[in-house]
Amino acid sequence: MNFLEERIQKDGIVKEGNVLKVDSFLNHQMDITLFEKMGEEFKRRFAGKKFDKILTIEASGIGIACIVARHFGVPVVFAKKTKSVNIDGEMYIAEVESFTHKCRNQVIVSKKFISEGEHILIIDDFLANGCALQGLISIVKEAGASVDGIGIAIEKGFQVGGRMIRNLGYHLESLAIVDAMDAETGSITFREQ
Ligand code: 5GP
Repeated sequence: MNFLEERIQKDGIVKEGNVLKVDSFLNHQMDITLFEKMGEEFKRRFAGKKFDKILTIEASGIGIACIVARHFGVPVVFAKKTKSVNIDGEMYIAEVESFTHKCRNQVIVSKKFISEGEHILIIDDFLANGCALQGLISIVKEAGASVDGIGIAIEKGFQVGGRMIRNLGYHLESLAIVDAMDAETGSITFREQ
């Protein structure tokens, strides 16, 4: 088991409805020493790749993306969630369905912050059905930039997102892939990587 899998095993809580709670170290209280290790690991997994920017989505992607960004020496842009916006031409906009909150949001990024030809690394905390990622990918495409890497802390391998994103040909690296979890027993099974 790698360092993140060990931490999930120790402190993660399996909830009904296929939700893994990791709020004691990842997305509410944040263990920055752990984030540093995640940054190092992403740097290793994307060795040789040159990124201009990291793109993430608020709120829980931001902390991780900021620490990862220190390892790549690039700025972080985060997509903002909003109920609805007037399309005034200044923003890239995508529709995203929230897995945890069961609602649809628009996510927006100012056109000032992603430019044509840029190489983007997308970072997020979870990958479940892939809606958040699809939204971010569509924003990068609209900008004429390219998604050269996608780094995820925890992929829930039993949901469709990971397969879909890999089938589209993206270089997706998930530090921990949960293949099965059981709310009754609390057991979590990781995919061998
Ligand atoms: P997706 O769009 O891939 O279905 O879901 C990704 C987003 O949903 C992530 O940004 C994350 O915030 C949230 N999410 C999905 N599954 C879980 C989960 O099991 N636990 C937590 N804490 N968040 C999740």
